Amino acid sequence: MDMLIDGEYVNDMDREDVINPYTGEVIDTVPISHLNNVDKAIEAANNAKKFLQEMSAFKISNKLFNVCDKLKENRDDFAELLTKEVGKPINESYVELDRSVETLKLAAEEAKRIYGESVPLDAGLNGKGFFAFTQKLPLGVVAAITPFNYPLNLTIHKIAPAIAAKNTVIIKPPTNAPLTVMKFAELVNEEFPDGVINVITGYGSEVGDALVASDKIDKISFTGSVLTGLLIAQRAGMKKVTLELGGNDPLVVLDDANVDAAVKGVINGAYLNAGQVCMGVKRIIVQEGIYNKFKTRLVEETSKIKMGNPMDKSTQLGTLISEKAAMQVEETVNNAVNAGAEILTGGKRNGAFYEATVIDKVTPDMDLVVNETFGPVAPLIKVKTVDEAIQIANATEYGLQAGVFTENYMNAMRCANEIEAGTVFINKQSTFRTDNMPFGGFKNSGCGKEGIKYAVEEMTKTKLIGLNLR
Ligand code: NAP
Repeated sequence: MDMLIDGEYVNDMDREDVINPYTGEVIDTVPISHLNNVDKAIEAANNAKKFLQEMSAFKISNKLFNVCDKLKENRDDFAELLTKEVGKPINESYVELDRSVETLKLAAEEAKRIYGESVPLDAGLNGKGFFAFTQKLPLGVVAAITPFNYPLNLTIHKIAPAIAAKNTVIIKPPTNAPLTVMKFAELVNEEFPDGVINVITGYGSEVGDALVASDKIDKISFTGSVLTGLLIAQRAGMKKVTLELGGNDPLVVLDDANVDAAVKGVINGAYLNAGQVCMGVKRIIVQEGIYNKFKTRLVEETSKIKMGNPMDKSTQLGTLISEKAAMQVEETVNNAVNAGAEILTGGKRNGAFYEATVIDKVTPDMDLVVNETFGPVAPLIKVKTVDEAIQIANATEYGLQAGVFTENYMNAMRCANEIEAGTVFINKQSTFRTDNMPFGGFKNSGCGKEGIKYAVEEMTKTKLIGLNLR
């Protein structure tokens, strides 16, 4: 596929293969853009601002609903392409598709609700006699830089609120999984004037960086790793930035928990998308009274997980994004084992596959749980008290989401209040999100929120207009 700049499909001198991690086959190739094409995309997005800003909210909303219908009509093609480029099970791709449709629908609705408020200046000293109101204005051009794990829905979480708020967009999709996003941009381009949506492919460190550093872009909306997020924060200057970064989410199981519910939380949270989920369950902190029962049930359920061809509807665990990524998980787990951890089930790699793996005797200082391990692993940490559980849950640079399993509301409220994370769920794993909720972490998990209404807030600027009526 080619890039999309100002309504035209554009090639460049170099191209990169997009590989299916299950078959190893080349699915397609994409251009590795040079900086002159980045400049063209920036110019096109700036030129298109006036067309979008002249369009009524009513029309923009309708057009976003049209894109939504088109995505729904092409659901099967998109889901297959997603599975091919990411290696995730086809059932999970359908879930991502359905969420993408929902995200677009929310943005189409939100496009009609972007307005300011009247402000009583006479409530302030010397403010008597004014009539004042605010307006919510578009920022201008939004650059969306996105990761491989949920390439379609995470990109729509940026494109859709940006356009709803009358911003034009330049997308820099992940180099290893750019295709569904490029195909989706075609649908948006059919509805909106040329230049409203542009796609630049190529290496993040080159074209991504050029977008981040440009003074003709008004906002960077980034989802990806902490390392890249920190670089972007340093390079972005005065432009607005939203950073949705990594996570190291705890799942806390207290002595009074419903064991089956907690086990289900791990199955649905630690192994989803082969563990490559920002809000995946990455540390399982279990109180000692329930530890053995929980562990036995978790091993039982984990060993039933069916790993295999991601296109097969019965497959629950597909490949990681690449063999290299699976090797990294293997190395991290092996290091933990060398330091005293014990694999209870799983622990084997085959190409880009890594088995669903339960690991016992994990201590909080092991790399496996200090850093974000992006693979299908469930590391168990035993604690004595609720205090200790909270302390370990917080002993991380991350703070994206958290899940706590307890039947005691006092414990539930303590954990909810004291765990430092953007979201704390009680009796649900962290790996849960609705596309309208405010989503975004504390600490190094990022800054700013997404979830359509909240993203719109971060993609607009507020102007106050005051009329002196005296
Ligand atoms: P990544 O390596 O940070 O890449 C993300 C995007 O940034 C890619 O498009 C990449 O381009 C681009 N990029 C790389 N270097 C850049 C630079 N110097 N300037 C500008 N852009 C640059 O992340 P990933 O490995 O794809 O994704 C996994 C990470 O994302 C995990 O840490 C995960 O937790 C996090 N994540 C967070 C959320 C959330 O909502 N909080 C959601 C999903 C994932 P290339 O592909 O060309 O390198």
